[in-house]
Amino acid sequence: MIWNKEMECADRETMRALQLEKLKSSVAYEYEHVPYYAAKMDEVGVKPEDIQTLEDISFLPFLTKEDLAVNYPMGLLAAPMKDIVRIQSSSGTTGKPKIMGFTQNDLDIWGEAVARGITMCGIGDNDVVHVSYGYGLFTGGLGAHLGAETVGATVLPMSTGNTARQIMFMQDMKSDLLCCTPSYALTIAEAVAKAGIKPEQLQLRAGLFGAEPWTQSMRDKIEEGLGIKAHDIYGLTEITGPGVATSCEMNDGMHIQEDLFYPEIIDPDTLKPLPDGETGELVFTTLGKTGTPMIRYRTRDICYLKRGKCLCGRTTVRMSRVFGRTDDMLIVKGVNVFPSQFETVIDKFEELTLNYKIIVDRKHNSDTIELMVELAEGLEFDDIDFVENLKDRIERTLRDILQIGCKVRLLNSQTLPRSEGKAVRVEDRRKFE
Ligand code: ADP
Ligand code: ZN
Repeated sequence: MIWNKEMECADRETMRALQLEKLKSSVAYEYEHVPYYAAKMDEVGVKPEDIQTLEDISFLPFLTKEDLAVNYPMGLLAAPMKDIVRIQSSSGTTGKPKIMGFTQNDLDIWGEAVARGITMCGIGDNDVVHVSYGYGLFTGGLGAHLGAETVGATVLPMSTGNTARQIMFMQDMKSDLLCCTPSYALTIAEAVAKAGIKPEQLQLRAGLFGAEPWTQSMRDKIEEGLGIKAHDIYGLTEITGPGVATSCEMNDGMHIQEDLFYPEIIDPDTLKPLPDGETGELVFTTLGKTGTPMIRYRTRDICYLKRGKCLCGRTTVRMSRVFGRTDDMLIVKGVNVFPSQFETVIDKFEELTLNYKIIVDRKHNSDTIELMVELAEGLEFDDIDFVENLKDRIERTLRDILQIGCKVRLLNSQTLPRSEGKAVRVEDRRKFE
């Protein structure tokens, strides 16, 4: 099933021609309606008419999270407030919230993008969509909701929390698609197992999980625990929210809705565009949004792009999973460390679960880093030799990957708090000194 064959399966030439036409009008619109961006263009001497090919996008200045902060709350608004029908804001994982205004046109674009993603999960108007992302300013809940309504499915607006009730509704209402963060999906899977419910007793067929980075092994655990096919959905409030890209049944990257959001990958240091296949920072230009349109917005998310027809039949460019965000990078003892590196190590040990926390601190003028991680269910602390040996092996593997020493603290299973939204993996205590 494909929601919009014309766009999702367009040949390259048709797509590029459409993108160019939309890029030209988006740049002209921004220049006319957003004085801050017009000034940036004037500064580098570019006029909207200088954009004659898609590659000319590289003449245009970037927009960054700092630009949004300087213009807080709504300095980048391009439409009059009477045309703004919705406000959404970033969840504030990093820094000040980014407040975005949506016109009805923008909500239609968003709904279209998520509808394409939901259809990739094999879900349609006969199905029940169980939305366990948070509802509110955060785009997860209302984004999934909008997409489900667009395809005409029956929406269960559960929001997060009260996992036992989530499972009860899932069973009683025969939910077909679960939408939530991957960490909450793991929490639900764990609770399902604990309640003695077998995956085949649930009607669930698929899951649409995103809003935070996750790994293949997390996907395997969720798929097994809930008896579903898991799909990755990516997005950010500044561009629209979830649905900018979604993975199809081939699980070979996420299809970017590139007629709506034009992607580029740049080298975050030189800011030069990088060719397909090279890993760098993802940059988006919205094509057709009118509330808070974005030109060359630097997402800080690290991934690569891949072109070519997918086995599912879609031709849209795909993005790899997000390896992390440049904002997540910790500098410990002068070395760059990403939380995803810990997950890679944890994945190698069957004795561990993916419930972990990283604590960074500063003692006697020197940085310290510690990984707290839960042992798998059934493993006991009684066997001191086993625990000491395991700790040693994890510490050695971490040293190899991180290039710095990291202490490991093993915890009993079910010790760390479970996530209901975006998992908070890092506690940097150095900031509070
Ligand atoms: P923030 O978390 O910055 O406060 P948002 O709630 O808008 O703001 O979340 C957007 C961010 O969430 C993205 O920039 C990206 O870092 C992360 N994200 C969203 N979807 C995914 C996904 N499928 N995989 C990895 N990271 C994701
Ligand atoms: Zn595909």
